[in-house]
Amino acid sequence: MIHLGEYEIWFLTGSQDLYGDETLKQVAEDSKKVVAELNADGQMPCKFVWKPTLLTPDAIRVCLEEANASATCAGVVAWMHTFSPAKMWIAGLSSYKKPLLQFNTQFNRDIPYDEIDMDFMNLNQSAHGDREFGFITARMNMPRKVIVGHWKTEHTRNRIALWMRAACAVADGKKLRIARFGDNMREVAVTDGDKVEAMIRFGWSVPYYGIGDLVEYMNQVSDGDITQAIAGYEKKYDIQWGSDKAFTLGQIREQARIELALRAFAKNEHINAFTTNFQDLHGMKQLPGLACQNLMADGFGFAGEGDWKTAAMVRTFKVMSSGLSSSQGMGDSFMEDYTYNLDPENGLNLGAHMLEICPSIAASRPTIEVHQLGIGGREDPARLVFNGKKGPAVCAAVVDFGSRFRCVINEVEVIDPPKAFPKLPVARVLWKPLPSLETSAEAWILAGGGHHTAFSNIVTVDMIRDWAEMTGIECISIGKDTTITAFRNELRWNAAAWRP
Ligand code: MN
Repeated sequence: MIHLGEYEIWFLTGSQDLYGDETLKQVAEDSKKVVAELNADGQMPCKFVWKPTLLTPDAIRVCLEEANASATCAGVVAWMHTFSPAKMWIAGLSSYKKPLLQFNTQFNRDIPYDEIDMDFMNLNQSAHGDREFGFITARMNMPRKVIVGHWKTEHTRNRIALWMRAACAVADGKKLRIARFGDNMREVAVTDGDKVEAMIRFGWSVPYYGIGDLVEYMNQVSDGDITQAIAGYEKKYDIQWGSDKAFTLGQIREQARIELALRAFAKNEHINAFTTNFQDLHGMKQLPGLACQNLMADGFGFAGEGDWKTAAMVRTFKVMSSGLSSSQGMGDSFMEDYTYNLDPENGLNLGAHMLEICPSIAASRPTIEVHQLGIGGREDPARLVFNGKKGPAVCAAVVDFGSRFRCVINEVEVIDPPKAFPKLPVARVLWKPLPSLETSAEAWILAGGGHHTAFSNIVTVDMIRDWAEMTGIECISIGKDTTITAFRNELRWNAAAWRP
């Protein structure tokens, strides 16, 4: 359901008209070649669109206004192959609203010591042309990223590709609709927030629907479609039938009914993320479990208890990581910090939720199980049970500080559980937070990060930081180099920087 190929990134080459036709012809040829080769690199999530070399203030302004207006343009890359006096860029940059990457590259990689002359020097001027551009974007305080490196270098290309993914997630956010089935959980603070500000900042629309709206769709689902869905489950999952197979099948069929209803609802209402709330299940027999898990696996954002910000972040991660899930267990999920292992030598965090962890992060083939749920007061829901795949991952939460949104990130190392969890009937992920459980949890709590997060073993801290820069929100991360003293200072400085 996510197709990053629908987006494009415009590639702008800056210059001026005093260079003469010969040089400008070479500039255009060079930048066309850079674009063609970047487009031939399979890691780019969408196409670059080459634009004619920009020589005048009017051309720059018109080009950037067109980029704003384009439904498919998710951002622009600017490269000053030669010198482009930056006053020419002020009018265009003043109105530009989309992600901006300044790519400080150079057509040749190495200095050709034997051949270099002043003609060569006058053609290859990114070293000072891009500094002129850097001054004006700094002076205008433009949200931006700067990447320096040769355009054939793998590391540089990879950084560009990841920035593009963040830009696509920003574009997706502009049209993202997050259905709230019920409100946020009563009295919970961090899952609430300013939905109007979220729409202004991210584009997220967060409409409320009564759970009865979904129940109407559930009543329309045919038995044949449910049977077909069960056949699909049996291909992907093992089923723990237990002693009463008819009962188990009935409970799974009820989740299939919810899943099919949610899919039809989402299609009709243009929904790509949603929340549920166990306090609001009128007319439903089970809390959606397996249904939410399958929808997340298909690219939907989701969070429990009406937590629309986390649902939107899970969708944001799904967009950023689209197409990168190269092997079993690589993906993104709704997550909750649940229980600690407080051994001072082996501090761990066990992440899970009541039911709804995405099977994209499962270390091995998940099992559908039906168990009692001690909360919500409904029938035993079917859910997928598995352990999360080991390896590096991130957790991120967006919290509303009234005058601003803050994104808090933690880098974690998921491990294989040392023992089985024979009595724990939910999907779970066991990780060592960086730099340690103690410092990570202290920093997270000092930053006011929520208990719900978006989790990913594909999305990186840099991608989330790029996304935060593009959307203009505060971002703070906890990783291997974090110390509480420095982290507290960063929070203080941020508070000053973000003072309304
Ligand atoms: Mn929760």
